[in-house]
Amino acid sequence: MNSLGKVYLVGGGPGDPELLTRKAYRLLSEADAVVYDRLVSPVIVDLVPEGCTRIFVGKASGQHTLQQDKINELLVTLAQSNRRVVRLKGGDPYIFGRGSEEALHLARHGIPFEIVPGITAAAGISAATGIPLTHRRLASGVKFVTGHCRDDEELDLDWKSLADPQTTIVIYMGLSKLETLSRELIAAGLSPRTPAVAVANGTLRDQRQCVSTLEDLPNAVTAVGLISPVLCLIGDVVSLAHELNWQGLFYETRDMLKVSA
Ligand code: SAH
Repeated sequence: MNSLGKVYLVGGGPGDPELLTRKAYRLLSEADAVVYDRLVSPVIVDLVPEGCTRIFVGKASGQHTLQQDKINELLVTLAQSNRRVVRLKGGDPYIFGRGSEEALHLARHGIPFEIVPGITAAAGISAATGIPLTHRRLASGVKFVTGHCRDDEELDLDWKSLADPQTTIVIYMGLSKLETLSRELIAAGLSPRTPAVAVANGTLRDQRQCVSTLEDLPNAVTAVGLISPVLCLIGDVVSLAHELNWQGLFYETRDMLKVSA
């Protein structure tokens, strides 16, 4: 085998190009090939220099442009013929989105790799909305969960442990399962009046958000017509949304509640 290149598994952040790390920015500008997802915003893809090979392997739920094992193979093949391969992923490469599977595949094939963190959607959207993920009185912890499961399977989360009023719940990939999420969390004991927010295209110019309650969130999201990618935050911290709305965002509010901080 010829001298191997290296694969950089790089977090591209939630969308706003100014939220890229300096390291991500440098690696993009030095790359020989960039392999990127649907979640990577076009403004960030535009930063890839002319002459660098760009390969789109976008994935949307249930519809994979390239199957994951093909992406894994592609990374190995590219590293065998290129010096610097950037595998650019939305948010942080190790939070959902299968970055760790890609890393394992590279490790098992003896391909040198490096992990470059990115701002995950939860942090980006928390900052963009002003809604904190924790708060001394309202939330002593935060949980990141995925609402994604195979089409033919029921969402299988530990509802009892999730239904903790002192923990903020952040749901990635939950848009198509919002009704189940809401129903099960309420059944497990979380108040139906728990404040909840859904944010689409967070940190981007076309960001949209709606505030509601746990009970009403699925209806609110449908009524407002939010489309993927959508991140949901559930918990009393969301009651601070209006007061901490430093960007003056327009909330497509249905039913805002009062939980005082
Ligand atoms: N690795 C990514 C998450 C990949 S899972 C990260 O750390 O952020 C994909 C899910 O992330 C989407 O379905 C959505 O729930 C969330 N997401 C990512 N970027 C987002 C954005 N800009 N706005 C809203 N949700 C986003």
